[in-house]
Amino acid sequence: MSAPNLIGMLPSQLEDLAVDLGASRYRGRQVASWLYRKGVNDLADMSDLPKDFRAALRERTRAELPELERATPSQDGSRKLVFRLSDGARVSAVMMPDDGRTTLCLSTQVGCGYACAFCLTGTMGLTRSLTAAEIVGQLLAANALLGEGERATHIVFMGMGEPLANYAALVQSLRVLTDAKLGLGYSPRRLTVSTVGLVAGIEKLAREDLRVNLAISLHAASDEVRSRLMPVNRAWNLEALMRAVRAYPLAPRQHVFFEYVMLDGVNDTPDDGQRLVRLLRGVRAKVNLIPFNDWDGSTFRRPPLARILAFQTILLDAGITTTVRWSKGEDIGAACGQLKEPAVA
Ligand code: SAH
Repeated sequence: MSAPNLIGMLPSQLEDLAVDLGASRYRGRQVASWLYRKGVNDLADMSDLPKDFRAALRERTRAELPELERATPSQDGSRKLVFRLSDGARVSAVMMPDDGRTTLCLSTQVGCGYACAFCLTGTMGLTRSLTAAEIVGQLLAANALLGEGERATHIVFMGMGEPLANYAALVQSLRVLTDAKLGLGYSPRRLTVSTVGLVAGIEKLAREDLRVNLAISLHAASDEVRSRLMPVNRAWNLEALMRAVRAYPLAPRQHVFFEYVMLDGVNDTPDDGQRLVRLLRGVRAKVNLIPFNDWDGSTFRRPPLARILAFQTILLDAGITTTVRWSKGEDIGAACGQLKEPAVA
């Protein structure tokens, strides 16, 4: 067993650890503040910690970020970050500056086990889940690339993997990110967890006091089409999924996001649009239409622009806020559904 990683620990766990090492809880709070508030992960730089406490930490723990192997800039200003983990596995994160905000897309697993037909990550299968250290570590490493005093303003759990299939590490990460006193202090409204539709996970997340945004990868408004595209729909169909979504607690102006990848001739007709309108009736929904991003060997195509816009119009006419999300980083393999990294060098 390697020494426990301080990164990803809750401030309260760092306090407990300090006590275990013979120091006061206050020392644990100082470590949390260095890691999360100041973005410092080298013990040598934690200048206000007593020498013997630092020595104990060094002996019994580590503070290790995933190794940033590559940062590839896209023509559109986004950057794909490829991380090499301690076992050689690779995951990526994507940083997307836009209009004064910087959205960071994080991975939660190496590969993915849900095998959605249109998703490149889905062709990899699942290798393993990430630890909270590896999830929070992606964020800290990405923030370190930004200028002094800058950080990602919005975090979406939409990289490789299914966040709700890595529930414990996801929630631990969300708690570190939202801890306002000693954690990273992100407003939960700036965090979005996206899921293929794991109903049990959605119900569990609803019972946490986290209030993060929920995004559902919907992609079809009938069970027939959805089961063809997303095998998970055979376990939890649209009825079960929508029941869980309706029960998800929302703050006054909060919405549930629905992702809908537009696939030529598969889910893009006016009828599909009307079905979607009916499915979302009574749900405080925002829809993101994602024109399909191509990858080598895929059998799907992006519909012509006119059809995408016509689909959008149907939703807008029904009063549903709907945007067409042109993915960022398509030229560097960083767009939605394009994340796949070779396993071990
Ligand atoms: N597993 C979670 C998190 C990944 S989010 C989830 O599925 O929600 C990534 C989003 O990109 C999902 O909505 C996914 O369905 C979508 N996507 C996958 N492949 C795509 C592709 N080739 N083009 C456009 N969007 C894609």
